[in-house]
Amino acid sequence: MKDYHTHHPGPHGGYLCAVTRADWEQISTAEGMIPCFGIHPWHAHETDAAELAFELDDWLTRHAQAGVGETGLDASPRHAGTLEVQRLLLHIHLGAAFRHERMVQLHGVQAWGELLEILRGRARCGTLPRVHLHAWNGSHEMAREFMLLGPVTFSVGLRELSHSKATERYARIPEGRLFPESDDHPENWARTVALLGLIRGGLK
Ligand SMILES: [Zn+2]
Repeated sequence: MKDYHTHHPGPHGGYLCAVTRADWEQISTAEGMIPCFGIHPWHAHETDAAELAFELDDWLTRHAQAGVGETGLDASPRHAGTLEVQRLLLHIHLGAAFRHERMVQLHGVQAWGELLEILRGRARCGTLPRVHLHAWNGSHEMAREFMLLGPVTFSVGLRELSHSKATERYARIPEGRLFPESDDHPENWARTVALLGLIRGGLK
């Protein structure tokens, strides 16, 4: 089972996501990992949007297996002040992922509803890339709304799986749509896989 969202190269392989532009070079050479190029929403306000658009096209062209991310929206009090620029960068990432036919890794904190609307808009226009929602903590009903859009997948870490509503949220998501992630905590990997298996009733 590969790690569906991490910032640390590990023995299980998986999606190694950039946080800032400074990470791209290093993650592009990490052995056994799928690099994802992007700018985390926490750093959106430090980023030149036009430059990002140009560089994403360039790096995705040169790295045929790479994904896009981490991008997304964070509306928590600490980051809500930069939402405008977060939205702008999100659209740049989504556009690049669509044009290059790559998966995009999305972060959504207090923003799943807005993300759903944005993705619906792109689905209506026929410009929706493959989407992966990391640290997914929405309701099962909302997961279904995302899945209606097409090839949307989810990943969860130990924090999400330890929530009192974990079974309600995760047990009914169909096979092949929900995966484990370590994010910034590689030390949690084994417990994450075990707990997800338990909640899912014997996930392979
Ligand atoms: Zn992350």
